[in-house]
Amino acid sequence: TYRALVVDKQGDAFSVAVRELSEADLPPGDVTIRVHWSSINYKDGLALSPTGRVIRTYPMVPGVDLAGVVLESSDSRFAPGQEVVVTGYDVGVSHPGGFAELARVPGDWVMPLPPGLTQKEAMAIGTAGFTAALSLEALEHNGLRPENGTVIVTGATGGVGSTAVAMLAQAGYTVAASTGKASEHAYLRELGASEILSREEVSAESTRPLESERWAGAVDPVGGATTAYLIRTMKYGASIALSGLTGGNTFNTTVYPFILRNVNLLGIDSVYTPMDRRRRTWQRLATDLKPRGLLDSIAVETDLDGVPAVCADILQGKVRGRTLVRLA
Ligand code: NAP
Repeated sequence: TYRALVVDKQGDAFSVAVRELSEADLPPGDVTIRVHWSSINYKDGLALSPTGRVIRTYPMVPGVDLAGVVLESSDSRFAPGQEVVVTGYDVGVSHPGGFAELARVPGDWVMPLPPGLTQKEAMAIGTAGFTAALSLEALEHNGLRPENGTVIVTGATGGVGSTAVAMLAQAGYTVAASTGKASEHAYLRELGASEILSREEVSAESTRPLESERWAGAVDPVGGATTAYLIRTMKYGASIALSGLTGGNTFNTTVYPFILRNVNLLGIDSVYTPMDRRRRTWQRLATDLKPRGLLDSIAVETDLDGVPAVCADILQGKVRGRTLVRLA
């Protein structure tokens, strides 16, 4: 048997509980993994909420990230004892995920643990840190260089935000961070931010289509009115990497920043990133992009029983950095 967090919804009855499951409960798949670490992302917060709309079939074991050791594999690319990482795809949404001591997934979703990372470090990065790396790469692909000016990270104390601040700062960028947490300015400066803006300033509505050109790039996991603010304030030719919606899923803008300032709005998806790209970006996460302060400042630890409380907090924007889930 193995322990797993199970979310169920039958009619109006919604439940979240740690349960004892048997191997017969594992889904079909090629690779069976002893999960050692998972982590908590905003999407897991939604998965544990009756109104979250991310789980596609109930009952479900949530957890979009997992790292562990292969126990059995019918896919010749993987062998027992090998350390592996799984993030995204259908994991924790329509296929049982990382909040369990055992997982079984299709081989196409499995990535060998990149050399240079422990399983724990890989989960401290997790989907949030991978998304921050994809954002940095998308901005650089579109011309961002440290000499272009300041890069802003919104929702900066969150998972995507904290890892983005650390990665950008260590890549030589001048980083501005926006946050709703007045108590966390010192944390953001420790990660490498040199300027801090309030959430109010970056989510203020405006009828002006353009404001002074301020930002050379933006990592935006917040969305909503914050994305609209960014579009109005980007420098000529600058890009916004948009990955999230904690501040809302719609925004009002005009065409002017796009047609007069050549501003680019880049969409970022981590869930279905093709495996070759995934491996390349994770290789950088294990080397030059590995966030400074990952296990000292950014990540804290909980266990399976602690997951529901953190998931409730993450939906309220109360979590700082990344939360690891210890399973072994
Ligand atoms: P997180 O740790 O909760 O971080 C989100 C941060 O957003 C919060 O810490 C908070 O930062 C800020 N925030 C919260 N509520 C807000 C509000 N009402 N208005 C403005 N800002 C608010 O979550 P995460 O795991 O990093 O994920 C962040 C977002 O990215 C989520 O929407 C998630 O779904 C999305 N995401 C997308 C992908 C993808 O593949 N596209 C991958 C990962 C995550 P401050 O307190 O510092 O302002």
